[in-house]
Amino acid sequence: MAAEISRWMIPVHGYAAKQAKDHLTSYSFERREPRDHDVVIEIQYCGICHSDIHQVSDEWGGSTFPMVPGHEIAGIVSQVGTKTSRYKVGDSVGVGCFVDSCRKCSPCRRGLEQYCVEGCTLTYNGVERDGKTPTQGGYSNKIVVDENYVLRIPDNLPLDSAAPLMCAGITLYSPLMHWKAGPGKKVAIIGFGGLGHMGIKIAHALNAEVTVLSHSLKKQEDAKRMGADHFYATSDPKTFEKLKGYFDLIVNTVSVELDLSKYTNLLALDGTMVIVGLPEKEMSIGAFSLISARRSLAGSVIGGIPETQEMLHFCNKHNISCDIELIPIQKVNEAYQRVVNSDVRYRFVIDMKSLKQK
Ligand code: NAP
Ligand code: ZN
Ligand code: ZN
Repeated sequence: MAAEISRWMIPVHGYAAKQAKDHLTSYSFERREPRDHDVVIEIQYCGICHSDIHQVSDEWGGSTFPMVPGHEIAGIVSQVGTKTSRYKVGDSVGVGCFVDSCRKCSPCRRGLEQYCVEGCTLTYNGVERDGKTPTQGGYSNKIVVDENYVLRIPDNLPLDSAAPLMCAGITLYSPLMHWKAGPGKKVAIIGFGGLGHMGIKIAHALNAEVTVLSHSLKKQEDAKRMGADHFYATSDPKTFEKLKGYFDLIVNTVSVELDLSKYTNLLALDGTMVIVGLPEKEMSIGAFSLISARRSLAGSVIGGIPETQEMLHFCNKHNISCDIELIPIQKVNEAYQRVVNSDVRYRFVIDMKSLKQK
């Protein structure tokens, strides 16, 4: 008689929201035994993305609970399936926002799994390809992932400050590359938080001229240290007069609704504003702010596995990682409130060793 295949065998400990808007608390669950192409990762660090907060609060709708958030995962491979070829025990690896996709559609075949026509399998708050098994994220001590959806973290990148590259890093790298930020290009980053600070560093490394549009001048010195050429407060109406028609590319990372027309007016002829921030409510835009200079409004979501790997090599080469505040998991709820208050410099990262503390 064939032995019954036992799934959900690996005991895992983490933090979960038991229902929408709940505080995160200790939570035990199980993950599958590794399949042939899986790796088991001992999670060392996990970044706190504002998307975690949107989803725990069910601001986008459709959240499922209990929810273990976390898609900025860095850890060490501790076990491999029988047919894995890319990774071995002891490798430093990362996992980002998705852990699977259909693998057949045109975007998947092009390595753009984030645009999978069937929808990629989100690392948490999603379901596996079986259509029913819920996924759980990185605020936990272990994760089991198909090796094709795992990233290699270059040896010189510290694991703690590399963890947020899996989302914040690639979310800025991808549009900056796609819309060709580089020498002679004037790039603005709206919102100087987790995503925004990576935008400054990457656009600077690409030799673009970088301007930060932040709601106050409070963080100006930090931005300059990270490579920003200019810094303006959006609370000052003069900013919008002075910078009218100036930028080739604007990346909007803000987590709340903005008056988009005010910002598109800052674009030069043929300029593009890319939205990556994902506020709860819809935003509208005035047609005249687009037509008056043949401007484009675009959007971008994270990046595919090949481009995420490319981004990690780029960051390694340019000595780029995230500015982080390392916290024990017991402080996660406090950290959430500080992110909502824009009081983060510039990414909270959970040290998973703290899971062992009471
Ligand atoms: P974050 O660290 O909280 O940064 C957001 C920034 O937005 C803040 O630092 C702040 O910048 C600005 N902001 C926040 N509240 C504001 C307010 N009331 N008025 C004006 N500005 C405000 O968040 P994050 O992790 O970078 O994420 C940013 C957004 O991107 C979130 O909506 C997240 O869900 C989304 N996201 C999208 C993708 C994607 O693939 N498209 C990936 C990851 C995250 P200043 O202080 O400089 O004004
Ligand atoms: Zn994220
Ligand atoms: Zn697909």
